[in-house]
Order: sequence, then structure tokens, then C-alpha cells
Amino acid sequence: MTGPTPKSWITAITPYAPGRSSSGSDAPTIKLSSNENPLGTSEQAQSALADERGTLARYPDPNSTALRTALAEHNGIEVDRIVCGTGSDEILHLAAGAYASIGDEILYVRYGFMVYPLSARRVGATPVEADDADYATDIDALIAAVTPATRVIFLANPNNPTGTYTPIAEIARLHDAMPEDCLLVIDQAYAEYLDPDEAVLPLELARKANNILVTRTFSKIYGLAAERVGWAYGPAPVIEALNRIRGPFNVTTAGQAAALAALFDQDFVEMSRSHNQKWRDWLAARIAAMGNAGLRAIPSETNFLLILFDGALSAEAAYEGLMERGYITRWLPGQGLPDGLRISIGTEEETRGVAAALEGLVSATL
Ligand SMILES: *Cc1c(COP(=O)(O)O)cnc(C)c1O
Repeated sequence: MTGPTPKSWITAITPYAPGRSSSGSDAPTIKLSSNENPLGTSEQAQSALADERGTLARYPDPNSTALRTALAEHNGIEVDRIVCGTGSDEILHLAAGAYASIGDEILYVRYGFMVYPLSARRVGATPVEADDADYATDIDALIAAVTPATRVIFLANPNNPTGTYTPIAEIARLHDAMPEDCLLVIDQAYAEYLDPDEAVLPLELARKANNILVTRTFSKIYGLAAERVGWAYGPAPVIEALNRIRGPFNVTTAGQAAALAALFDQDFVEMSRSHNQKWRDWLAARIAAMGNAGLRAIPSETNFLLILFDGALSAEAAYEGLMERGYITRWLPGQGLPDGLRISIGTEEETRGVAAALEGLVSATL
């Protein structure tokens, strides 16, 4: 007897492969595979989370009112144009589900975030990849790939897994060239790693547009990945459509409280940003010094580096070798990058350690 048959577009999905969290060896495990904050979480957010223990029997605020109000104030945007989600992942899926279906296309750049093809396929839409320009977003290629069937364009900026950044003028050029009935989703999961003056520009672009949705998350610099809180800013009719299909109680009470407290602790955010910048630059310089062994780090505006291997040491061997030494990184053959290894910036000790381990692997192959 056969059981129920999933829809053909569901069986076509390659399941999301999360970063490994254990090395399987005896060496102490250091996880540099999921772009988490190595400094942890704001203490204020941690105590706000602990304070929510008393209310477990009650459903959360379905509209994340206090959090949305604080986000509106902090970012100088309208509260009724904000929606919160179970991580920004939920919002990406909602955007795909609200605007695309069978026969429609969802467009993104090659080496984009791996959730985009998944979000297209789960609603029966066709995922379409535009060519990259040396691993970075190629706006002309995206414009050329727009067809009458394109309903949603996903653009992560800065991008994951490449770390590359596209200036706002280029994004505005894409927005001017695309049809108005197509939704541009600017995924700013790494916004807080940018200069703050730069980070707000997509919100400003979205303010005047009727087809731009900007997504943000508390999972990365805010160090709240475990709580699953994301949010988005867009035109009122788009927010209204997403509200229709989201889970009514999609953000937990503890998640709302922790995110609110984390937002108020901008000192922690600034400390995390400057730590990241220092050790990302440091690691990039160490990779550059391994250039003679074929290693190259793509310039990054995020909390990770994509390293390409074009020498005796392959990305796969580096991945396995680092794993044996207790460092879990992300090897990316499933994303069309068999020569790429993504390493999240860790603490000082972790970053020094992973660089030394990589240098050891490189000199063993010279
Ligand atoms: C991490 C990440 C997200 C999603 O994070 P959530 O935890 O679901 O908020 C979204 N987009 C990109 C590009 C990411 O790297």
C-alpha cells in the first residue's frame, strides 16, 4: 500500500542542509559554520528571556506590538508597515507564497541564499538563477533575467554565502528596471555588520516604493538565533498580504521580549560589529598570505569569509582537516561551490586557531 504522495514540486526540493554542530572527533568542537555571534547574546536580552518564564500558558501577542513599535522608533519607520516572523526565513517563505505559484518565476543571483530556491519550489514556482560577477551580484544579469513571469526577486545584501555587497545605487537601478508588479525582497540579514549609515539605505528606498520588502533578523549580530525572530518593512498592502498567511502566533513571547531587550542594547551590537570587523580583516590578511597555495578570500561585508581553493589543498580536504582539528566550517558543494569553504568569524582565540589550523594544512601540501 502506498501512502500519500507529496506534490511533485515538493519532492523536487533539496532539503536545507544546516551547518554541522559536532565534529565527530575528540577535539573540542568550535562551530564556525552558521554565522552566529561568537560573543553570544546581550545580557539584557538574556534576562528578558528568563523573566518570561511565568507566562507559558498564555499565547503570545499575535502582532508583536511592543517589538514592532520599538523597531519603528529605532529605525524611523512606520509601525503599520512592519511584520514580525519566525525568523526572517518565515518572511521569505511568506513573500514567495503571497506573490508566486505554479507558472511563476522567482529570481535570485547564483550563489544566493539557499532558502530562495526552497521558498520558490514549495509554492510550485520556478526558481531562476541569474549569473554572478566573480561571485558578487550582477545587477545587469538580474535585469536581463526578468521575464513577464517573474513575481519575486530575492536579493541578499550583503549576500550569504559569498559575503559580497552591492551598493544601493545598483539596487535602485534594478528597482527602476523591473516591472512594478514584481516584488523586490532585499534580505538584510547582515545589515548590522555594515556602517549604520549604509545599513538604513534599503529602508529608505523601500519607504517610497510600492514593491520593495526589506527583511531583517535577530539571529545574526543580535545573537538570538535560537529564538527565531525576524521582521520586515514594506508597503502596507504587502504587509497586509503577509499578515493573512503568517502563523497567527508566529513569534513566541520569550522571543518578542528578548528581541526587544536586544534592540535596546545597541552597545552590544556595536561591540559585536567592531569585534567582527577586526577579526574578519585579520583573517582575510592571513588568507591573502596563503595566496601562493591557491587560497583566496572573497571581500566580505558580513561575519564570515568565503574562501576559494585553487591549489594542492582542496576545499574538501581543508573542510575535513579542520573538522579533525575541531573546527566546523561550511563546505558548499550543494550550493555550486565545491571549491568554496565558508568560515564564520569567531572569538579571537577561535579565529587565531582556525587560521593556524588552515596554515598547517596548507604547509602539509606544499
Ligand atoms: C541567516 C540568514 C537569514 C535567516 O535568518 P533567520 O534566522 O531565519 O532570521 C536570512 N537570509 C540570509 C541571507 C541569512 O544568511
